[in-house]
Amino acid sequence: MSRFLSSRFSSLEAYVPGEQPRDRKYIKLNTNESPFPPAPQVLEALDSREAEDLRLYSDPECRYLREAIAAYYGLSPKNIMLGNGSDENLSFIFMAYCDKKIGVSYPDISYGFYPVFAELYGLGRKELPLRSDLRICPEDYVAAETTVVLANPNAPTGICLPVADIETIVKSNPDNVVVIDEAYIDFGGESCIPLTKKYENLIVIQTFSKSRSLAGARLGYTVACEALIADLEKLRYSTNPYNINRLSLTAGKAAIEGQTYYDNNNAEIIRVREITGDKLKNLGFELTDSKANFIFARCPGLSGKELYQGLRERGILVRYFDKPRISDYVRITIGTEEQMDTLLLALKEML
Ligand code: PMP
Repeated sequence: MSRFLSSRFSSLEAYVPGEQPRDRKYIKLNTNESPFPPAPQVLEALDSREAEDLRLYSDPECRYLREAIAAYYGLSPKNIMLGNGSDENLSFIFMAYCDKKIGVSYPDISYGFYPVFAELYGLGRKELPLRSDLRICPEDYVAAETTVVLANPNAPTGICLPVADIETIVKSNPDNVVVIDEAYIDFGGESCIPLTKKYENLIVIQTFSKSRSLAGARLGYTVACEALIADLEKLRYSTNPYNINRLSLTAGKAAIEGQTYYDNNNAEIIRVREITGDKLKNLGFELTDSKANFIFARCPGLSGKELYQGLRERGILVRYFDKPRISDYVRITIGTEEQMDTLLLALKEML
């Protein structure tokens, strides 16, 4: 740190992304990317003419992609904002709807970026403990009197809240915004997007990174009523109106056209998650009920760090969290069936 950095960032601890090592070729099951390539429509759309057009700025209104997303959900483009990954959407939301007085509530075990944004923007915050079975206690967020941010399914547990519980939370917080981060919703959960038509205080975020194989394109979107989207657009235009580059806009629109391809891939990921889960249980692992594209598992007798290190030595990357209550777990992204078989072999060897 230099002596010039503003003192307001002196205690900020930055988010630590999953490692992207270059020392050897790993089976990468550590950052919840898709094992499948983008849809054929995406590869076709990213042709050389599109590359030539890179001399021009991208469309700050992201018109075609917003129209495509809106049509997919039966909404208006005015209900959609695009961000550079859902991380950027979250950043604008934390900036817009929380401050020192209007704090933010989220679970103590959830997506690691929430506390980073809370610190970055100097927000009052309540980190509410998960129950002992690692489930979110929905009652904790009823009449919260703060902004509420919940990942559904939660990360890194993969556990889903039913839409009815979320609706109760939204209804009981009429004067606060409730944000549902649906990064992993396409792997077995039920989306709250239809509820955005009914509630003016509900924001739902989704991403192209996981279920649409476009993590490297950095595309995420916010769905909410027009007034909330207008607030967020104000912040986006005050930060970087060209936050989505031309190639990603094109890739995103083509991805919406390739939805059937992704639906099939997601069904395959769910199938592989279920059979891998059963095989892990047979090896003595304990698993949460994940509805995401990852498994969250622990093996009695081995810490999360030991599992992580043993797998790393065998060329497989997973993620562990050096945090109370979950330090025995590893989060394993669902890869292809073949990759999961290699993982299971490695685990057998380690046990
Ligand atoms: N929300 C959750 C719960 C996540 O796990 C992630 C992935 N790290 C994100 C949001 C951000 O995803 P992206 O910025 O790639 O859309």
